[in-house]
Amino acid sequence: MRGSGVLLVLLGASITLNVVLFLRKGEAPPSAPAAAAATEAVAPASAVAADAPEAPAAEAPAAAPVAGDWTVVRTTVEHSIARTMAAVAGEHGDALSAELARLFVWDVDMNRDLQKGDALELAWRLVPPKDYQVAVARFTSGKLGKTFTAYRYQQQGDDYPSYWRPDGTEVPLFLVDGPLKQYEQITSLLKDRPTHKGMDFKVNTGTPVYAPKDGTVLRTNWNWSSNGNCVELQLEDGTIAKFLHLSDTKVKAGERVARGDVIALTGNTGHTTAPHLHYQLERGEGKIVDPLDYHRTDRRALGDAARAAFDAEARRLDALLAATP
Ligand SMILES: [Zn+2]
Repeated sequence: MRGSGVLLVLLGASITLNVVLFLRKGEAPPSAPAAAAATEAVAPASAVAADAPEAPAAEAPAAAPVAGDWTVVRTTVEHSIARTMAAVAGEHGDALSAELARLFVWDVDMNRDLQKGDALELAWRLVPPKDYQVAVARFTSGKLGKTFTAYRYQQQGDDYPSYWRPDGTEVPLFLVDGPLKQYEQITSLLKDRPTHKGMDFKVNTGTPVYAPKDGTVLRTNWNWSSNGNCVELQLEDGTIAKFLHLSDTKVKAGERVARGDVIALTGNTGHTTAPHLHYQLERGEGKIVDPLDYHRTDRRALGDAARAAFDAEARRLDALLAATP
């Protein structure tokens, strides 16, 4: 997709575009603390994979939004999300379509379910140098006959903002007994790319990594140029668990670990472009296992105390989306 930006823009010219409006300063930011967001200088699309080359730095477009401003897009899908976003956001299209895919992957199969004429609305901004944030996104699927909305909101006590549905349930699933208790975002699922063998979590360096089950440490820090600091566990059921790009390891080969033990701290070592944890599971002969299948999954819901604040924020973000010039 990258490298064919000019083509995409040309294609985009034929795509129906209802409204793109640039909201100027004066719009209140979403609940996410600006300071926390500003420290995250991460390219979502390239944060994840050793196999994903970094996008070349592109020139700023004439209509680039000023930092802090939200750009509201309302459009209809003509072909793919990538083409649709390229049409309305130019060089930012790829990164934004990746963000949207992450938000809607839990409910929609963007390959199979997408139909011409589906409605897509979002408010987004670029926090320099390359952190793309979506305040709210709404997708209406003709095939499924449903509208999906994701509001960015940081619950008190959480380290990061997340995305929540109108009913106060969280958009992404989480892994029960997963390797992290808090993280900013799941940036890559196993099914996203056939060449990538794990699940990636965008998370600040130094975050504790927990053993998902009882097991034994097989090795640490092998193949460093690619994996960086890393830990390999054999879990009690024989499954192999790998944790890559760590800042520090807390265990040694041969050591026994119990479920919930801290085995390492997250980092940005080896072949990686941004702090994240790569979590990979294998069973027999290197057969890759999807963590979403291996772990029980669950979905958080906002408590009563948080609901009033969240509902107010959701109404504010609805108004942001509905704003017209
Ligand atoms: Zn990875």
